[in-house]
Amino acid sequence: MLLAYSSLPRVWRALTWAHWTAMGAAMMLVDTGTEESRDRVRERHPAWADQADAAADEALRLVTATTIPGRDPGWFEPDDQAEAALRGQALRIVAGLAGGCLQACPHADVSRPRPLFAAAWGDRVDCLPCFRSAPPPDTPMSAAESHRCDLCGRVSSGPVLLATPTIGMLTIGMGVCRRCLRRLMASGGVAR
Ligand SMILES: [Zn+2]
Ligand SMILES: [Zn+2]
Repeated sequence: MLLAYSSLPRVWRALTWAHWTAMGAAMMLVDTGTEESRDRVRERHPAWADQADAAADEALRLVTATTIPGRDPGWFEPDDQAEAALRGQALRIVAGLAGGCLQACPHADVSRPRPLFAAAWGDRVDCLPCFRSAPPPDTPMSAAESHRCDLCGRVSSGPVLLATPTIGMLTIGMGVCRRCLRRLMASGGVAR
């Protein structure tokens, strides 16, 4: 329902970061019976479910295997604030794909699961080969956009750090400010 509504192009284009995050938070409140709905999907579409599981495993493997020289990648369990933002972004991407608001590579099709890549600030969804060869965006990010934290929405004076959480087959590039990073570290959700 939320997906159908938010994928309407005129709705999708009008929604801001704060709207998506609020919807992500709402999804956390009403999100009961996830296991049952997964079981139902598995029952009705077993082949798709197997492919989706394989795509999710592959997405996690790709993210885990990607190392940035000289950087120690940290792993964070999202707290509630981060999870609301993350779910909101996942909804934004799936709705953008469904309604045609995001530019999708020809292989970005949820009926044929495979790892897909998108950015919280971007307007594209790509499979891995297309992601690697995607052209740079036509309009570069404004200074405010490039300093905005995709977890708390704050525009910080310092640079944001790149986080690449995966949700199922989706890997989402998100900027995280130092304040959120400190909060996540303090909440004890760090595993290196
Ligand atoms: Zn592709
Ligand atoms: Zn933040």
